[in-house]
Amino acid sequence: MKQLQAYLTTFTIIAILTIASGCASGGNSASSDSADPDQKADQTQSPANPNMPNPPRTNESTVLKQDEEAAAPGNGNEDDKQTNPPAAPVQAAPKKLYRMNSVYSFVPINKEATTGKVVLLTFDDGPKADKTLGSLLDTLDKHHAKAIFFVNGYRVKTHPELLEKIADRGQTIGNHSWDHIDLKKEKEATVKKQIGDVQAIVKKITGKYPRFFRPPFGSGNDAVKKLVRNDGMLYMTWSNGSLDWDSSTKNKPDKVIANVLDQLHPGVNILMHELPWTTEALDSLLTKLEAKGYGFIDPSTIELGLDSPQKSAK
Ligand SMILES: [Zn+2]
Repeated sequence: MKQLQAYLTTFTIIAILTIASGCASGGNSASSDSADPDQKADQTQSPANPNMPNPPRTNESTVLKQDEEAAAPGNGNEDDKQTNPPAAPVQAAPKKLYRMNSVYSFVPINKEATTGKVVLLTFDDGPKADKTLGSLLDTLDKHHAKAIFFVNGYRVKTHPELLEKIADRGQTIGNHSWDHIDLKKEKEATVKKQIGDVQAIVKKITGKYPRFFRPPFGSGNDAVKKLVRNDGMLYMTWSNGSLDWDSSTKNKPDKVIANVLDQLHPGVNILMHELPWTTEALDSLLTKLEAKGYGFIDPSTIELGLDSPQKSAK
């Protein structure tokens, strides 16, 4: 009888220990999974993809980024790219840090956590040539800076390899219409085609739709803005014109720099172009901005702010 009691006691202790350790390990994995449901989904969907377990670890904020994007509106176009392995490491959507105000400048979403002393760099009217584009990309890399390249469809069609280069170098591509025409003067069907054809060619070459739109000459109206929004893009002109397109700055890199610095404020949206004198000015301009304590907005951290009624009208 004593032997049976001892046996039962031992059995009970072992059973309790087994259950306890089971709960502990189960609890750990459950909490880490629930902290990142997207990542769990990715792993179960792509068990054979050797890229998946590592990319989320390459950036300490990636886990947070994924959660943010899952909760944020406007990521409807992202899902179909999960099956594209080369694009997979880029899929983790960064945390949104900035939003655009009514004058096309940027303010931190959380003023206490994020600095407002930043600028957005943009380059319009490309892609034109390997020499100018390559130099811009190298200078941006040197300063760890990101920018939006607002491209025209007819140029992309001529130089798809240059568009690919912008994307491969981790820069953001924006839509600047197909023909660089004044959209305000065009019929709705024409505007729709001017915008939509650029979306299509950029998606075909890079696997991603542009999420930013700038009208040629900064010229738009409510109809253009609505079409842009329905295509899932944030419409912007600029708030700091370098005037690099103007004859007053032609071949004068110092003038480009002076024009930008004259209008410098926290959050400005700087309009530049893929032009030789801008290319020449960029390294010095970025150095001067950094010396004044400015950082560069990563376009992927801009909240698009496209509400769901507009999205569902797409
Ligand atoms: Zn332009």
